[in-house]
Amino acid sequence: MKHITVLGAGPAGLGAAWKLAQRGFAVTLVERGDRVGGNSGSFDFAGLQVDYGSHRLHPSCSPEILTDIRSMLGGDLLDRPRHGRIHLRGRWLHFPLKPVDAALHAPPAFLAGALRDALISRKATGGESETFASVLQRGLGPTICRDFYFPYALKIWGLEPEQLDPEQARRRVSAGSVAKLAGKFLRRGKGSGKGRFFYPRQGFGQISEGYREAALRAGAELRLRTSVTAVEPGRVTLTGPRGEETIETACVLSTIPVTMLARMIRPEAPASVGQAAASLQYRSMILIYLALDREQFTEFDAHYFPASEIAITRLSEPKNYGLSKLPGRTVLCAELPCSKQDRVWNSGDSVLADLVVRALREAGLPDPAPIREVASRRLPEAYPIYTLGYKPAFETIDHWLDSVEGVVSLGRQGLFAHDNTHHTLAMAYAAVECLSESAEFDRNRWSAARREFESFVVED
Ligand SMILES: Cc1cc2nc3c(=O)[nH]c(=O)nc-3n(C[C@H](O)[C@H](O)[C@H](O)COP(=O)(O)OP(=O)(O)OC[C@H]3O[C@@H](n4cnc5c(N)ncnc54)[C@H](O)[C@@H]3O)c2cc1C
Repeated sequence: MKHITVLGAGPAGLGAAWKLAQRGFAVTLVERGDRVGGNSGSFDFAGLQVDYGSHRLHPSCSPEILTDIRSMLGGDLLDRPRHGRIHLRGRWLHFPLKPVDAALHAPPAFLAGALRDALISRKATGGESETFASVLQRGLGPTICRDFYFPYALKIWGLEPEQLDPEQARRRVSAGSVAKLAGKFLRRGKGSGKGRFFYPRQGFGQISEGYREAALRAGAELRLRTSVTAVEPGRVTLTGPRGEETIETACVLSTIPVTMLARMIRPEAPASVGQAAASLQYRSMILIYLALDREQFTEFDAHYFPASEIAITRLSEPKNYGLSKLPGRTVLCAELPCSKQDRVWNSGDSVLADLVVRALREAGLPDPAPIREVASRRLPEAYPIYTLGYKPAFETIDHWLDSVEGVVSLGRQGLFAHDNTHHTLAMAYAAVECLSESAEFDRNRWSAARREFESFVVED
């Protein structure tokens, strides 16, 4: 049977490796890190399993993927109510929003402004010069944009909302209009089953571990601490604990950042592709973990901070996601989006811990002191940044990759998409279905699948 190389062992790479091995392909799964799971992995900190920021398996996951995950995790996939809070102009609102809670606790000026905005009819389209800001202003009105989406966008992506592409609004804001927002809100009020999530008892990374075990059982080979350095027709060059080696392969399914892939393909890409790759950027993130010797910090799973005065965007308490049992200990995980060029990227743990303590104070949350232990992790590619004009750059790379035989780019990093874990697994399953027994990749079928991926809306 033909040999396939899969690059990157996040959920997309793991899902692809498992499906390929099940079909009888010889599979080598190559991962630069020393563990699987990518941004969806988990690790042990102070005796608790913690994730790389708040991760949940959303109920919009396809039944096929949910069935696979359940069968891999046995009884370990918990069905949990969401119980978060948003800090809005000094008040706390339940998140996801609940009608009665929002009516009682939203700042009165915010409530009045949002209701007034809902009654004002706005133009259906904003013409050619659309941006993230104009789409949301038109859909939701100025109040929700000013107090929530715009400052949050600036913190998450590091750009003013006017500098972001309208696609960002379509992909990241599921309630992009007042009508949709009201619909979500009211359905939630009636207890429609929304406002719940799935979570593995041993941390979100247990999903990836489940795929890893299934892929290995099906015969895939996993190479950790191994980077791919060159992709040529019929072979790939790897560097890792075994030194540098070139392996023959019929096809490469790549889930590493598409900008990185474009640079390693030989013969080299045209200059226009190189320029396009250089212009696409990923937002990075520092995750700061504080271990506390107490049972629980708050009852909430996550706190969201849209305001610009509070440095972090989210604080999660992993213990509250899966009710892990470690008496007398909890961990907080703060998310700090940033650029690798920012000074904070190289800050030490004590500076980062101070930054989190200040943010919590600013939000009126309790002082976490005494802090038992601090750790930090860095995600170089946390979010793709959809700057205005990113699309032609992505399409330049994408069209060129279409012409590179035996190489397919997929997954969150590979398609420069904001997608959730279940979306990237769906991409992996679809890509494997596009391969014939002789490892020919059906590009037409893949294009049809790609059109379906465009309907994915990211959930937080
Ligand atoms: C803060 C945060 C919160 C999130 N919350 C949720 C959530 O609640 N629910 C949800 O469903 N999704 C969530 N996501 C998204 C989720 O993390 C991603 O959808 C998922 O991890 C994407 O999987 P992937 O395999 O496509 O990419 P990744 O997870 O990024 O995996 C790519 C892999 O490629 C490897 N790699 C890179 N370069 C090389 C190289 N040269 N050679 C070999 N290997 C390489 C990387 O080390 C990595 O393991 C969140 C993401 C972030 C950043």
